[in-house]
Amino acid sequence: MTPHLHKQYPELESTLPHIALGKSPTAVRRLSSLDSVAADLWVKDDSEFGDGGWGGNKVRKLEWLLPDALRQGRRTIVTVGGIGTNWGLATALYGRELGLKTVLALIDQPMDEHVRTQLERLRASGAKLYFTRSKGRTVLSAPYILARNFSGRRPPYFLPAGGSSAVGALGYVEAAFELAAQVRAGELPEPTHIVTPVGSGGTVAGLALGLRLAGLPTRVVGVVVNDTLRLDEPTLSGLAARSARVLRERGARLPENVTPTGNLDIVTDYLGPGYGHPTPEATTAQTLSADLEHLTLEPVYTAKAMAALLDMNGQGRFGRGTVVFLNTNGPR
Ligand SMILES: *Cc1c(COP(=O)(O)O)cnc(C)c1O
Repeated sequence: MTPHLHKQYPELESTLPHIALGKSPTAVRRLSSLDSVAADLWVKDDSEFGDGGWGGNKVRKLEWLLPDALRQGRRTIVTVGGIGTNWGLATALYGRELGLKTVLALIDQPMDEHVRTQLERLRASGAKLYFTRSKGRTVLSAPYILARNFSGRRPPYFLPAGGSSAVGALGYVEAAFELAAQVRAGELPEPTHIVTPVGSGGTVAGLALGLRLAGLPTRVVGVVVNDTLRLDEPTLSGLAARSARVLRERGARLPENVTPTGNLDIVTDYLGPGYGHPTPEATTAQTLSADLEHLTLEPVYTAKAMAALLDMNGQGRFGRGTVVFLNTNGPR
């Protein structure tokens, strides 16, 4: 299937290759049991995105990142994450299919059942693992790791945590065009807000830019769940601006006056004690979503974002608008 970005900007077809790894469009549906007297609640369910039973938001980024690495002749991807990193695992599994090797620098995070399973999967994925344990030690060992993982003369393709590079965020520019097409087709009303977690920011940055380009007035509400990265509004709008620059550099004729900023709200009240630490509100949101809506969330990202959505809606923060919860979680 031709991605919306190529339909919209045919000049990108040869300069910004795309490899379909998931099934799109992902479904939108009303969350009628969670509905309150305030806003009308919907979900766009990106958990279905990805094949081989492995999905979620990282796969949308990889659709642009992996072909970009191949286009540059790279053989190895170096990236970083926690020891339970969904991102690292997605990169290893989808990269392997395309003949790319993955090297991961892993930082400690609170150990639980899920993290333990993830670590097992990482070990089985064929990725090369460096246990650098802390952010400081990862930064210090980065030159060594990069130097050790050349393929012949070719340097590895480096990706920041969560795949939130300017190219990675394009996965959610694409998703915003997809949502706009669903609005035009009458599948849902024009959303006033879209609520989703912020782990490394590529998802919200891409959405903010994509909604602007697609002509939707929807505001992006990013719920910060990670305190190990700088994830404020200027930083994330900066990432959106870098993605716009990539599109222009690759030849896309974007409208002159498009500002990839001003439609992004960052909320930090739902993080709790830190990245990966559960909060009681998130646990409640997770149970409610499962019981009332058959929506499976996980504690690190999506349950905290849903807790934010429910709390903010209870406070009337969305008025009587249409609020879409973007479910970034996938079967793992
Ligand atoms: C990685 C991840 C996120 C965060 O997305 P970013 O683009 O890194 O902000 C959200 N939800 C889930 C389930 C994730 O695995």
